[in-house]
Amino acid sequence: MNSCIIIGAGMAGLTAARELTNYGWEVTILDKGRGVGGRMATRRIDHTRADHGAQYFSVRTPEFRQLLDQLTAEGIAEAWDLSEAGIEYPRYFGAQGMSTIPKYLAQGLNIALQERAILIEGDEASCRVTTESGNTFRADALLLTIPAPQALTLLGDSDLNLPEAEQGALQAITYQPCLAVIALLNQPSRIPAPGMQILETGGIEKVIDNQQKGIAPEQATVTIHATPAFSVEHLEGDLRAAGQKLLDQLTEWVPAESVTEYQVHRWRYSLAEVRHPEGYLEVPMPFPTLLGGDGFGMGNVEGAFQSGRQMARALIEGTNT
Ligand SMILES: Cc1cc2nc3c(=O)[nH]c(=O)nc-3n(C[C@H](O)[C@H](O)[C@H](O)COP(=O)(O)OP(=O)(O)OC[C@H]3O[C@@H](n4cnc5c(N)ncnc54)[C@H](O)[C@@H]3O)c2cc1C
Repeated sequence: MNSCIIIGAGMAGLTAARELTNYGWEVTILDKGRGVGGRMATRRIDHTRADHGAQYFSVRTPEFRQLLDQLTAEGIAEAWDLSEAGIEYPRYFGAQGMSTIPKYLAQGLNIALQERAILIEGDEASCRVTTESGNTFRADALLLTIPAPQALTLLGDSDLNLPEAEQGALQAITYQPCLAVIALLNQPSRIPAPGMQILETGGIEKVIDNQQKGIAPEQATVTIHATPAFSVEHLEGDLRAAGQKLLDQLTEWVPAESVTEYQVHRWRYSLAEVRHPEGYLEVPMPFPTLLGGDGFGMGNVEGAFQSGRQMARALIEGTNT
């Protein structure tokens, strides 16, 4: 049986794993996180919740449309009409938070959580991935679906030197950072319908009312995404102070006295800004190794899906020829 290790249980890794599993491959996914989903993230705050990574996604390709139809039919994803906020085409989100979607996609897959890959080794016969906890995983092939700068660090730490062209291609991929604030409120927010506003002023890119969105019915929470410029400026500084600065800009919609608690999350990699033109990159290693994720192809959630799908197809076709 063909086997594969996938590093990263985000949209790209989960999609690749589902596709390979369907073709009879034995797949092990490793993720450093406590849950699946990567940047499709939902956080519990008190007894309610807030999405703090991707807020919604669009659908452009027939393959992704097919998955979305399945997700909406099963009540896993919902459409969000954002036309009042100036977004013309519908966007979609996880019905009980964004992480509902990766959790659904992860069902039945072999996933080892809290396993941070720190070393990749191997030869023509197999690849070996060692994790921080000291476990070692073996397979015929390797897919890396982590942000390109993290992939470069992992390959470098493993003394796997890439040829100049591949090294340059990976170094060219860049991501915007994003500071995200999630605030718990003791009353509904005054963010106008439909519960999402794009501001792009005062350091705030967008603000989301998770209650109006429908993922925090019991108690209101809001999410603020800072602009890339504000995020760069405050990335290494006092995160709470930066979060307070953002909240101070919003008192008309989120009165200071309504905020009972807030948390700030630092995303070093949010949206892929400069991407590799293809859906994945094959790198020369003794064992088949492909790199993908949202830094490849069209970017964002749908791009990660397409990248994962294309990586799996390439492996399957490679073993059929
Ligand atoms: C603030 C923010 C806003 C966004 N807004 C949007 C939006 O509006 N629309 C949209 O479509 N997209 C948006 N995105 C982007 C979208 O979330 C991503 O494009 C997509 O989720 C990327 O999926 P992925 O599988 O490529 O990577 P990820 O989701 O990052 O998955 C990679 C996984 O690899 C794991 N990992 C990393 N290193 C290791 C290691 N060494 N060992 C083991 N595991 C490791 C991580 O824990 C993670 O789970 C946003 C993202 C953020 C953060």
